[in-house]
Parts: sequence; structure tokens; C-alpha cells
Amino acid sequence: MGDGDLPLEPPPEEPLTATLMGYYGVCPREAWLMGHALEPYPDHELLALGRLLQETAYREERKEVALPGMRLDLLEREGEALVVAEVKRRSGQREAHLLQLGYYLLALKRLGLEARGELRYPEERKVERVELTPDLEARVREAEEALRALLKAPTPPPARRIPACSGCAYFEFCFVEEVEDA
Ligand code: SF4
Repeated sequence: MGDGDLPLEPPPEEPLTATLMGYYGVCPREAWLMGHALEPYPDHELLALGRLLQETAYREERKEVALPGMRLDLLEREGEALVVAEVKRRSGQREAHLLQLGYYLLALKRLGLEARGELRYPEERKVERVELTPDLEARVREAEEALRALLKAPTPPPARRIPACSGCAYFEFCFVEEVEDA
């Protein structure tokens, strides 16, 4: 499983989590709120749907694995390589999903493990193969630095309307005036 040729590097000084990285890819304000333990309403419909999907999709081959800062949806062997699969509802936020999966792959590389990834969208019957290319690795490293700096900020970035807002569990928190005026 291990690859003696991969150079080991120390983990980043402040461990992040893959989940925060995924949120950062969607909305830095959401990542800040989550990172400061400001939990959204736990029964929000989309959060509940996401949990249900994670519990039911690929049930037969399911093997959830927890490592520091990571809870991998699926971890499989393919010959000598590991395959990490991330299961999502829809591919609309693919860039954020790619960042999260890239974070897993880089974290495994830091542990000396070679792995490739898959983004799985069971509702869309789509599976995308993902490699930790130099480009993806550079994007993940850049995002790690930006996320670390963001989390150190005393206040979150201001709320800005983006397409993801309509399905976000923080919507009422961010746009309370609009909700009250409605
Ligand atoms: S409602 Fe919009 S601005 Fe607020 S955290 Fe969610 S995605 Fe970000």
C-alpha cells in the first residue's frame, strides 16, 4: 500500500478538515461560519438529504474511513493504488468537490500513500476519475493557505448572493432582513 518513493512531508502546522475545504470552495463565509462552530440548523432539508445519500449510496461497497481531519466516503484498493471516492448529490458544485477530493489525495500523499480519486454523483449516474495532478495539487495548497488565513480572521467575510445561497443552511442567518421582509 505504501510507496517508498513518495517523499514524506510534515502535515501543515494547523490541521484543516476536508469538509471545511469543500465549504471554502463553495463560499468562504460558509467555511468561516462552520470553522467557528456556528452550526447551521441541523434539520435543514439539504443537509438531511446529503446525510441520507451518504448513508444509502453504494451501500454494498461502502467503507467509510476516518483519518485526522478526514472522513472518506469510500476507500478501495485498485491493484497497488488506493481509490478514494467522494459521493455528492449533484455536480453543480464540482469545483468545490474537486478541491475537497484533492485535499484528501494530498493528505494521503503527505502520509506516503499514493491514491487516485473518484467523484460520484449517484443521482446523475456519473463517476469522474480524478488524479492529483500538479495543477490540482497547486490549487489545493493555495486553498489551504487561503483557508487558514480566512479562519484566523476575527469576523466572517460579508454575505454575498451566489447561486449556492438558495440551498445553504445559513441562508436565514446571512439574509435575515430579506427573510423578515418576505
Ligand atoms: S447563504 Fe450564501 S453567503 Fe451565506 S454562507 Fe450560505 S452560501 Fe455563503
